[in-house]
Amino acid sequence: MTPAPKNKPRKKVSSEPRVLHGSGASPGIVVGRVLVLQRKTRRSGWYNLPAKELDAEVARFRNATARAETELVALRSRFAEDLSDALSIIDSHILMIRDRMIVDRTVDLIKARKINAEWALAESLGTVKKKFEKIADPYIRSRYADVKHVADRIFGILAGQEGDPLADIADKVVVIARDFSPEDTMRLPSDRILGFVTEAGGDTSHTAIVARSMGIPAVIGIREITRLCSTGDEIILDGFNGRVFLDPTQDQKKQYREYKRQHQVFSDDIAFYIQLSPETIDGHRVRLMANIETAGELDAVMKYGAEGVGLFRSEFDYFQRNVRPDENMLFTSYRHMLATLDPLPVTIRTLDVGGDKFVDQLRSGSLRLDLERNPALGLRSIRYTLHEQVLFIMQLRAMLRASVHGRLRILFPMISSQGEFARVMEIFNRVKDDLAGEGVDFDNGVEVGIMVEVPSAVIMADVLAGGVDFFSIGTNDMIQYSLAIDRGNEYVAHMYEPLHPAVLRMIKQTVDAGHARGIEVGLCGEMAGDVIAVPVLLGLGLDDLSMRPSALPFVKRLLRHSNSRQLNDLGGRVLQCSDGPEVRSFLDSYLPRTYPEEFGPHHE
Ligand code: PEP
Ligand code: MG
Repeated sequence: MTPAPKNKPRKKVSSEPRVLHGSGASPGIVVGRVLVLQRKTRRSGWYNLPAKELDAEVARFRNATARAETELVALRSRFAEDLSDALSIIDSHILMIRDRMIVDRTVDLIKARKINAEWALAESLGTVKKKFEKIADPYIRSRYADVKHVADRIFGILAGQEGDPLADIADKVVVIARDFSPEDTMRLPSDRILGFVTEAGGDTSHTAIVARSMGIPAVIGIREITRLCSTGDEIILDGFNGRVFLDPTQDQKKQYREYKRQHQVFSDDIAFYIQLSPETIDGHRVRLMANIETAGELDAVMKYGAEGVGLFRSEFDYFQRNVRPDENMLFTSYRHMLATLDPLPVTIRTLDVGGDKFVDQLRSGSLRLDLERNPALGLRSIRYTLHEQVLFIMQLRAMLRASVHGRLRILFPMISSQGEFARVMEIFNRVKDDLAGEGVDFDNGVEVGIMVEVPSAVIMADVLAGGVDFFSIGTNDMIQYSLAIDRGNEYVAHMYEPLHPAVLRMIKQTVDAGHARGIEVGLCGEMAGDVIAVPVLLGLGLDDLSMRPSALPFVKRLLRHSNSRQLNDLGGRVLQCSDGPEVRSFLDSYLPRTYPEEFGPHHE
C-alpha cells in the first residue's frame, strides 16, 4: 500500500448525506485528518512458462509462502499473550499458509498448466472462494476474507513488495484504505494512528476484532471511501455508531469533540449504568431509547441498554445500497430488527427524504427535487411519500407483515395538518384491508404515532393527539422551522439554538396536549442526547427520550441523579427565560450546583 498523492482526482460528495454509514468495528470518536492508502496492483502479469522453468517457479512460490509465515510468526512474537483474540487470528492465518487447498493446489497448477505462481495462486483462491460462497452460515462464509488476506500477503511477496508503508506514517492520522488484514491492523503504529476506515469488512470480520482488542477506533464497510476523500481531508470517525462525516462543519466538530470528552469522562461508569433502571432518585421512570439508521446498529442498541428503538430512520435502507429494496427485502430487514429486540419496541419511521436528504437519488421523470428552490419547505418527507404512493404502500406492507415478529410502532414524519394525517391513515387502513383480504397475518393493533416537528402540528397538537397512540417530537426540524434556520446552512448555524425558549415552549405545549389525551410524548431530535439539554427536557415532562445509542449511559446517569420536583422546577424556570442565552446562562450556574459530579469544577 502507498499513500495516495494529495492531488489525486477524486469524486467529491456532491450533496447530502455527508455522513456515510458502515459498521462500528471498534468504538471511539476521532476528529482528524486522513491518510488515504491505495493498494498497488500486486498481481504482475500472468504467463505460461517453459517446462524447464517450472521447478524454479515452484521454488519461488514456496519461498514466498515461507516468508509470509516467517513474517506472521515475527509479528506474533511482538505482542503479549493478553491480546489473545488477535494472536489466535494470526495463528489461524499461519495454518492457512500451510493449507493444502492453497499451497498444494497452487503448486499442482503451476506444474500441470505451466503457469506462473501468481496465476496459479489466483486460480486456487477462486476455487476456495466458490467453496465458501456455498456455505450457508454467514459467519463461516465471511471467513473467506481471512483466506484472501493470507493470499494477498503472498501476492505482495511474489511481486517483490518491500518495506512497510504503515511504518512510515509520520503524523497522527485516520488511515483510509480499501481493506486491512488483521495483521495490517496489528502493525498500525498506535502512537500515530487515530483510527481507520475501510471499504471492506463486516462486524464479525477479524479486522474488526483486532481493532477492538487494540483499542483503535474504526469504521468498516464504507463503500468507495477511498474515492470519496483525499489525503489531508478532515473527517469525523464515530466508531460507536459506525458513521463517518466528510468535511464536517465547525458545529459538527465541536459537537463530536464534546461527545468524545463525555466518553472519556464516563467510560469507566458505562457498564455500571447500563444495567440500572432509568429513573430519578424518587422513582420517576423515563424510557430511554435509541435512534438508529441501519440494522447494523442493533448491537449498539443492546450494548448501551436502550429500552427499544425510538427512531429507525428507514431512508438509509433505500439509498445505502445499489439496489432499491423491494417489499420482501424491507420485510426481511424489519422482521430481523423486530425479532432481535422483541419484546422491546421498534419505532420505524416511514421514508423521510427530500429537504436535505438524498435529493440527488430522488430524481424520477419530471420530478426534480434537486431543483427545488426551498427544499426544506418542499416535497419532502410525508409529502413525498403521499406523492409517490407506490413506495409508501410497499413500505407499509413490509412493516405490517413484519409486525407479528415483535413490537412495532409506526411513525409518520413531518405531519403538518389533520387533513394530511387523515390521508395517511386512509392509505394505511387500505393497506391493512388489502393484507387481510390476502390472508396475510399482521398485528392489527400496531401503535401509530406522528413526528411533531412542524409548528402547525404543535399548535394543533390537541387535535392531532386524538388520532394517534404517541407523539415523537423531532427537534432537529422543529428548531429549523420555528426559528427559520436552515439546519444545514453554516451561515446561520450560530442561530440554531435548541434551548431557545420558543422551542422549549413548543415542546411543553406538545407534551401537555399529548398528556391531556392520555398519549405518550417522546423526543428523538439530537437534543435528547445533549447532556446540557437533558435536564431541561426531563423538566418539561417528556415520557421518553431517543438518542444515538452511545449517549444512553450518560443520559441515564443524569436521570438517576435527578429528582422530579427539582426537574419540574427547572422546567418551569426555563420557560420564563426570554431568550436562548438567558437559558444557557441560567444553566451555567444551575447544572454544576445540581449535578456536581457531572458538571462540577472537577468533572473533567
Ligand atoms: C428531527 O427532525 O428531530 C428528527 C429526529 O428527524 P431527522 O433529523 O431525521 O429529520
Ligand atoms: Mg425531522
